Amino acid sequence: MKFAEEGNIDDLEAKVAYTGLCCYCGACGGFCTEYIRYENDIPTTDEKCYELHGACFDFCPRTFLPILEMEKEVLGGVRSDKDLGYYTEIITAKASDAVINEKGQDGGVVTALLTYLMEKGEIDAACISKNSDEEKWKPEPFVATSKEDILAGAGSNYEQCPTIIGVANAIADGKESIAMVGLPCHVQAMRKIQLSDYFDVGGSKVKYVIGLLCTETFDRDLLLAKLGELGVKIDDVKKFDIGEGKFKIFTDGGEITEKISAMKSCMREGCTFCYDFAAELGDISVGSIGAEAGWNTVIIRSETGKKLIDDAKKAGVIETKAMADDKIELVRKLASRKKTGNLKKIIEAAGAVKILNLAVDPSEMDLLL
Ligand SMILES: Cc1cc2nc3c(=O)[nH]c(=O)nc-3n(C[C@H](O)[C@H](O)[C@H](O)COP(=O)(O)OP(=O)(O)OC[C@H]3O[C@@H](n4cnc5c(N)ncnc54)[C@H](O)[C@@H]3O)c2cc1C
Repeated sequence: MKFAEEGNIDDLEAKVAYTGLCCYCGACGGFCTEYIRYENDIPTTDEKCYELHGACFDFCPRTFLPILEMEKEVLGGVRSDKDLGYYTEIITAKASDAVINEKGQDGGVVTALLTYLMEKGEIDAACISKNSDEEKWKPEPFVATSKEDILAGAGSNYEQCPTIIGVANAIADGKESIAMVGLPCHVQAMRKIQLSDYFDVGGSKVKYVIGLLCTETFDRDLLLAKLGELGVKIDDVKKFDIGEGKFKIFTDGGEITEKISAMKSCMREGCTFCYDFAAELGDISVGSIGAEAGWNTVIIRSETGKKLIDDAKKAGVIETKAMADDKIELVRKLASRKKTGNLKKIIEAAGAVKILNLAVDPSEMDLLL
């Protein structure tokens, strides 16, 4: 990568872990189990590592992210849409199988595509998130190797999952053809791993990168406290969802809602620095905004993504429809809202920007340009 920077675990700690930028994607610790472990969802070390340039720094999406260069390399194009990134098509789709459609968070497209790839023998592992057996609703990286496994991970968990650890585990386990599902941060990390000039950890074994649209994830302790305020026990929750400006909690006793604006206090700090809503480097990106109930919004970006959607449609695994322009505009609006809000935080944290000898506070750039 042209804009690559070098650094080690000390730099990672100073620049990312202790500044609140860490998104807990799992990219640093997943491929360096010898030195890195996670404590309170940030990387830490017990032993001194003497590498001057580490994979931990190279793979982290929060150390450096040459997004336009990466977009060109991965997707073969340059964006004309600032909010959604490079894409060739936006459609709406749903799983044809009623069980998958029902079990999936929205239209079940992600689960349908993964089971299709697995049953066709195109992949031998799907790296997804699954709720812990020990702690209710705690998401954990999971390497699915069967349709049953994939179904067990269906549904959205609004906490952060260090999904890249699952990818590292799948590669370590000898898996040769992997699909991964991740939030924008996971997708960025996966692409950095694949594009690294210095470290080959087997990233090319990941053949399909399925991104999820994402506004934010919630900090577990803050979410549990919020549920307490709302009188909800985590053990009773059957499903969480976000839609129509509300955070929805489904229990046997009924549906409890909270305004999404009131959930901002539960947001993980690392998410406030994220400048990607639409998982801009995925082969496809999947969400719900703009789609009717029981359907997904699908952004097709790469040739791999296009072929996957066309093949799955031909095989009858998914149904698709064109997406109306006003619905696509809703997706764009939500992306823009996230980016505009988070850019303020990024600028505040950045301090002066230096271009050759010219140093200027980013908020005052318009005074010069
Ligand atoms: C934290 C979060 C925030 C989101 N925010 C938005 C939003 O603002 N707007 C929008 O339109 N859509 C958002 N989505 C996407 C939406 O909730 C659905 O995941 C998406 O529409 C796919 O639906 P589906 O029915 O195909 O999913 P399914 O078929 O149910 O598959 C979902 C897949 O996502 C994986 N997964 C679940 N939780 C996580 C997680 N925390 N980290 C990584 N992988 C996970 C599951 O393992 C599963 O494989 C968000 C999802 C998450 C997890």
